[in-house]
Amino acid sequence: MNSKNESNFDIVIVGGGMVGASMACLLRESPCRIALVDRVKFKQGVDQNKLDREKFDPRVSALTAVTKEIFSDLNVWADIESARCCNYVDMHVWDADGTGSISFSAAELNQHELGTIVENSVLSSALYKQIAEQENLSLLAPVSIDSLENDSDEVTLLTEDGNRISSQLVIAADGANSKIRELCQIPTREWDYNHQAIVTTVRTELPHQQTALQRFIDTGPLAFLPLAAEPDDQSQKYCSIVWSAVPERAEQLMALSDSEFCSELTKSIEGRLGEIENCDKRYSFPLRQRHALDYVKDRVVLIGDAAHSIHPLAGQGVNLGFLDAVVLAKELKHGSEVGRQLADPTVLSRYQRKRKGHNLGMMWLMEGFKHLFAEQALPIRWLRNLGMSGVDNVSAIKNHLARRAMGLDW
Ligand SMILES: Cc1cc2nc3c(=O)[nH]c(=O)nc-3n(C[C@H](O)[C@H](O)[C@H](O)COP(=O)(O)OP(=O)(O)OC[C@H]3O[C@@H](n4cnc5c(N)ncnc54)[C@H](O)[C@@H]3O)c2cc1C
Repeated sequence: MNSKNESNFDIVIVGGGMVGASMACLLRESPCRIALVDRVKFKQGVDQNKLDREKFDPRVSALTAVTKEIFSDLNVWADIESARCCNYVDMHVWDADGTGSISFSAAELNQHELGTIVENSVLSSALYKQIAEQENLSLLAPVSIDSLENDSDEVTLLTEDGNRISSQLVIAADGANSKIRELCQIPTREWDYNHQAIVTTVRTELPHQQTALQRFIDTGPLAFLPLAAEPDDQSQKYCSIVWSAVPERAEQLMALSDSEFCSELTKSIEGRLGEIENCDKRYSFPLRQRHALDYVKDRVVLIGDAAHSIHPLAGQGVNLGFLDAVVLAKELKHGSEVGRQLADPTVLSRYQRKRKGHNLGMMWLMEGFKHLFAEQALPIRWLRNLGMSGVDNVSAIKNHLARRAMGLDW
């Protein structure tokens, strides 16, 4: 910023999380001058040798095949792979109540893997390494945006320490509690899932065999996501867990000692990975479904969790955010090729039209699953067990579900 503490760009992306940083990277060939702003300092590049073999980021994401393709095109995937990540080739989902179960296998779908588990910090560092050298991009951090003035020619963002940043277009990627969305008074439809998600890393007695597990318990789903301690990890003894539970149960689980928590986990996953030998520090997040009624207002456009946040049970949230970024980047490029201004309503509404329906569809699917498995009435329990096993036997439906979850049919 110059000495008057005023700066001007064509595009400002607020939020350098996984989605905002991807957006910046996708605009790498744009002639626009772009700023990526975050209230937290960017940490560049994972030093593979410094990754502790037994210490993982508690936040991981299951990335779909399409997301992998996006990052391969951006030259980011090679860095992720050489740091560490774990492909999963099978997935078993079953119901704690009865005999209902469904299994997916990459081999059945003629794919190498169903998806890849990546620590969020590994993904972000690989992205930052890529964008650090991007000529059309200024990284502004730590800078917190406090307020916004939207007029007919430009948007001006005011930072916490009194600086002004103006631009033609603001892309809000500032997460589920988006300040930009709030400042623009974009309404949301939201409701509480009445679930807390507990996340941590565990070491198991038996190898995970690159298999993701999910058991639906009446208090909420429990997922085990396989991790690799190093790029060619043969031991396969680490998993990230996401245990979603009603608040009372989550509170009980958080209050347990590590060894009590591990025994509870061993029981709750029905001993499929032998004893849970060890767990790292536990973190608990409230889960809330949120969807912005509009993704666009004047010169501001929402992407990622700023536009939508959903239950992590099918690991779709950030994958949807990456698709928002890809579609917005394409629409901006197309708009400029046909001579339109950056914040032209036609350009931005094309983005909204393409993404809103797809995101809503996935959100309703997750909502349906969550309610189906929260339901205690006997006929519904019986039907869902029958349904799961039925679907497991009908490969056309199963393939459709799997392809949707892998992002192949978006
Ligand atoms: C327990 C759990 C498990 C999950 N598992 C998966 C999974 O397996 N697969 C999947 O696809 N998704 C998963 N998700 C969802 C996924 O984590 C989110 O969709 C994703 O993190 C959203 O990324 P984002 O970049 O949009 O927002 P965020 O990660 O929230 O980033 C927002 C950024 O904006 C910055 N910011 C905020 N306000 C300001 C401001 N005023 N000024 C400047 N900067 C600001 C923040 O510092 C932050 O860096 C999971 C979510 C949870 C809770």
